[in-house]
Amino acid sequence: MIRINHHYLKLQSSYLFSDIAKRVAAYQEANPGKDIIRLGIGDVTLPLPPACIEAFHRAVDEMADSKTFRGYGPEQGYGFLREKIAQTDFRARNADIDPDEIFISDGAKCDTGNIQEIFSHSNRVAIPDPVYPVYLDTNVMAGRTGAYRNGRYENIIYMDSSRENSFVPDLPKTPVDLIYMCFPNNPTGAVITREKLAQWVDYAVKTKSVILYDAAYCAFVRDDTLPLSIYEIEGARNVAIEFRSFSKTAGFTGVRCAYAVVPKTCAAYDKNGDKQYLHPLWNRRHTTKFNGVSYPVQRAAEAVYTEAGSRQTKELADYYLENARIILQAMNELGYECTGGQNSPYIWIDGKTDSWGFFDLLLDKAGVVVTPGSGFGVCGEGYIRISAFNSRENVETAMKRVKEALASA
Ligand SMILES: *Cc1c(COP(=O)(O)O)cnc(C)c1O
Repeated sequence: MIRINHHYLKLQSSYLFSDIAKRVAAYQEANPGKDIIRLGIGDVTLPLPPACIEAFHRAVDEMADSKTFRGYGPEQGYGFLREKIAQTDFRARNADIDPDEIFISDGAKCDTGNIQEIFSHSNRVAIPDPVYPVYLDTNVMAGRTGAYRNGRYENIIYMDSSRENSFVPDLPKTPVDLIYMCFPNNPTGAVITREKLAQWVDYAVKTKSVILYDAAYCAFVRDDTLPLSIYEIEGARNVAIEFRSFSKTAGFTGVRCAYAVVPKTCAAYDKNGDKQYLHPLWNRRHTTKFNGVSYPVQRAAEAVYTEAGSRQTKELADYYLENARIILQAMNELGYECTGGQNSPYIWIDGKTDSWGFFDLLLDKAGVVVTPGSGFGVCGEGYIRISAFNSRENVETAMKRVKEALASA
């Protein structure tokens, strides 16, 4: 008799976005004709930069000609893209990363979800709360957790993010082996300082653990003192894998291009305690299960590193950052405590009531949709997330309505 992977039965259905949709539909029915502004979206809204579009078109034309047509490319990505990434995103910032340590993929979601395959089931896994759910659910599927009780899975070491630690988890009190981190953070918008990140790298070196560092939002960092990459920290090459994406950086959410960095010096240990490098393991995994990102998409991503492309992508992020500033200022003026909104497209707001209560208040009184923080973990209760991914006009109108509604509430 064929049996299923029973770990899938432990997964909690995510009702978050369907619950939001239900409440919005009910509101719309009760208030026909009322305009609703959605500030809950984690997806970009502006089109691709012109430099990327031009490169994309040129590459499509190459595919139409037998002289320049390309079939399967290298699974790890074309050299032209890996070299520009290594040079611009790392070496130019004193982070020692080689092109062949970069693996081009179709998304940081897939990479952060798949990476756990190269690690033992017996590892103790540390995951932040609140969290981007991919890290957690993929470890549940793999069987690294016990049952789900009171909002948490057994056998996961949850790292609480709260106002007390400025939404940057403290070093764990119990030993851990695999550590997930994301900065600038989704959902809290929090950033990590160089000093704090160095403490984590030191911890990983001392305890022989590995840090999985999700830097999908690094393009939003404008404060020069903050690290963009974990490899800007001494020693990180030996203990960290980093994930990046063109999704939020350059509007590629629908185009799909990202990369993982697995330094050749980064290692874990076999059952005899002998050092095993992770690069050949990930290379094997990646080339066995993935056949490469399409050529035109890699050319479009390469265009991000041209002079015009880098200026245009910076303008994209600046546009969303100005939205974030407007949202942050409005919520601060109303007396709410917020994190994020600077160096991040997300604003995380203490609603001074439960998450869904604040969600309902903003929907009913202002017609504005946000994301309840409780959907991201136990520690998200009481908070909401507002996203800056929207038009300036929508953001300005929404914040005006929120101000009017809450001033009279
Ligand atoms: C959006 C996002 C990503 C990017 O995912 P892609 O699959 O590259 O589109 C990665 N991590 C976090 C935390 C995100 O919010």
